[in-house]
Amino acid sequence: MAGQLEGKIAVVTAAGQGIGRAIAEAFVAEGATVHASDLDLDKLDGLDAAKARLDVTDTEAIEAFASAVGGIDILANVAGFVHHGTVLDCSEDDWDFSFDLNVKSMHRMIRAFLPEMLTRAAANETSGSIINMSSGASSLKGAPNRYAYGATKAAVIGLTKSVAQDFIRQRIRCNAICPGTIESPSWHGRVEELGKSVGGADKALSMFVERQPMGRVGRPEEVAALAVYLASDAAAFTTGTAIPIDGGWTL
Ligand code: NAD
Repeated sequence: MAGQLEGKIAVVTAAGQGIGRAIAEAFVAEGATVHASDLDLDKLDGLDAAKARLDVTDTEAIEAFASAVGGIDILANVAGFVHHGTVLDCSEDDWDFSFDLNVKSMHRMIRAFLPEMLTRAAANETSGSIINMSSGASSLKGAPNRYAYGATKAAVIGLTKSVAQDFIRQRIRCNAICPGTIESPSWHGRVEELGKSVGGADKALSMFVERQPMGRVGRPEEVAALAVYLASDAAAFTTGTAIPIDGGWTL
């Protein structure tokens, strides 16, 4: 059976580990030609994809990457960083770093790739798809100690809806995914870190699990399955959405 993304060309940021890695692998499995990128090239080892080192905070590097790759059908903006703390823990530098990496990165990537995506969408019967990684901690929900992070991920939803609105008649769709807690290398780091203040990593782990109504955290592959759907022609009527995938966290 043909894959759901047969004939499509995709770019994925932060494809080295966690959700980005799972998305890149799922896109490959569904037949897409994938350009996988990450800040750390070594993390892309083992992926059956074209691989590039790409820092999503570097506008020039993104423009060079977009020129080298050319036209694409799917852009998955996954790179993001979790700042831990309240407004009182967030310096101006912390705020700027979070917005640069979590939001302006998507502005850069979309500006660089959209012109050729529009050309391809005009030539094809099917639509181009931009998928932006937001979070349940965003405009959907306030989460403790996710002050800067929640603000950036809410901005991602606003950016997503604006792009969806502006290009809706030009066959470009733009959607945001809003995961709850998903097992990933950086999440394991957050569990370790929280463990230092709550009496151990096991206690921290159970706190993360406890806040998930479903009683477990999610897997990157579960988020990747939603990304495949949004990237595919099955989602041709879906744009401007911010879809929770969170085991009921935002219920
Ligand atoms: P992760 O945090 O474990 O990995 C992040 C990847 O991003 C790494 O491979 C790293 O090398 C790369 N990276 C870091 N800085 C970069 C830069 N400047 N340019 C390019 N790549 C860079 O992965 P994750 O936890 O799966 O998170 C991926 C995305 O999903 C993020 O946007 C995150 O906010 C979002 N998210 C994660 C969770 C979760 O619980 N894991 C929940 C909601 C949303």
